[in-house]
Amino acid sequence: MNPDALPPLREVLEAHGLWAKKAYGQHFLLDLNVTRKIARLAQVGVGDHVIEVGPGPGGLTRALLETGAHVTTIEKDERFRPILAEIGAVSSCISIIFEDALKADEAKIAAGHPAHIVSNLPYNVGTPLLIKWLTGPWTPASLTLMFQREVADRITEGPGEDAYGRLAVIVQATCKARRVMDVPARAFSPPPKVESAVVRLEPLATRPSPARLDALQKITAAAFGQRRKMLRSSLKLMGGEALVEVAGLDPQARAETIPVDGFLALADAWLAAR
Ligand code: SAM
Repeated sequence: MNPDALPPLREVLEAHGLWAKKAYGQHFLLDLNVTRKIARLAQVGVGDHVIEVGPGPGGLTRALLETGAHVTTIEKDERFRPILAEIGAVSSCISIIFEDALKADEAKIAAGHPAHIVSNLPYNVGTPLLIKWLTGPWTPASLTLMFQREVADRITEGPGEDAYGRLAVIVQATCKARRVMDVPARAFSPPPKVESAVVRLEPLATRPSPARLDALQKITAAAFGQRRKMLRSSLKLMGGEALVEVAGLDPQARAETIPVDGFLALADAWLAAR
């Protein structure tokens, strides 16, 4: 797509009388330098299919289309229909869907081919969407996602670090995860109250089976639900000391010190004992 084919985003928003709606977690990226950098971090180009959740006025969409990728957008807010149609009028590489991304059938959208997820996520639905993409029936080829900085840390940090918890274990059991870009609040319009960061996730070649993932969710919920307690106490209802020993771990250790492999061993021990 030729970037000069469309007027600047700020003008487009003004022309359509559109403003950011808090209820939809709307904070727009209007600076093409920032959106182009995110598109580069997504490592997509000609021949790739990108599913972008929450295009809003289409700043990131434009940068993604510039790479030559085909972009399918999923937006909940119908007010953006005319703006996105204007992009569709100058690019044949965009498919526009209006629906709640939590209900979207990505497997149907991807139609049997690999597809990459790229999104400046609505903060209120970011984590449930991530869990859906990592544990649901369809697996993306890669994910390049903007989160609140605090959520980005909860995704990427490891044992012993402050933000390491349930989310990090589930994400890192299914993906290689890195924080690849910090984005200051002033880059958004309107600026959010918190800083943001882009996280790049590459799904592992072999993902744990649905039963193992389900067990992992239950074990991490119990272990991090009482993160200051020793595992033998926090996991008491799931097998306690005996379970922790079968998994080859120290029953006196606390959840925050256990690596992802340790939690997978606990999930396996729990499944084997049932
Ligand atoms: N991509 C645009 C940008 O970077 O400027 C907008 C990002 S804004 C943080 C989040 C977008 O997600 C908004 O357009 C909002 O309407 C949309 N959104 C919120 N909840 C959604 C949902 N459940 N499904 C699809 N889109 C949603």
